[in-house]
Amino acid sequence: MAFAYDDQNIFAKILRGEIPNNTVLETEYSLAFRDIQPQTPEHVLVIPKGPYATFDHFALEASDVEIVDFTRTVGKIAEMLGVQPATGAGGFRLISNAGEDAIQEVPHMHVHLVAGRPLGRILQ
Ligand code: 5GP
Repeated sequence: MAFAYDDQNIFAKILRGEIPNNTVLETEYSLAFRDIQPQTPEHVLVIPKGPYATFDHFALEASDVEIVDFTRTVGKIAEMLGVQPATGAGGFRLISNAGEDAIQEVPHMHVHLVAGRPLGRILQ
């Protein structure tokens, strides 16, 4: 599977309003919504509105304003969910699967924010 951007991917359809989603937060450049198959009590996907297939495309090609907006949106989601470690909450994990080896299912860049239970180690 090549990861050139294809605007028929499911998140592009969500952005165009062709498929419903459970939005948590929308900004000018980013959208955060609940994963349809949550793996943890809190499982939110944060996506840029721009056409970036993978994290590296986004990091290298998006404008500074898009990147700042995206990063702040992730922070705001952690705040909204009440999972910020500094508050004494249990914390959270960010995951961005990029490409085949990472088993990226949807070829529109996204970050998973998962939280709400102990998450275990993912790297040894
Ligand atoms: P990936 O493996 O690409 O990192 O993860 C894609 C995620 O998108 C999966 O966790 C999957 O459950 C979620 N997903 C796939 N289709 C939809 C959908 O139509 N709506 C929502 N909200 N999530 C979806």
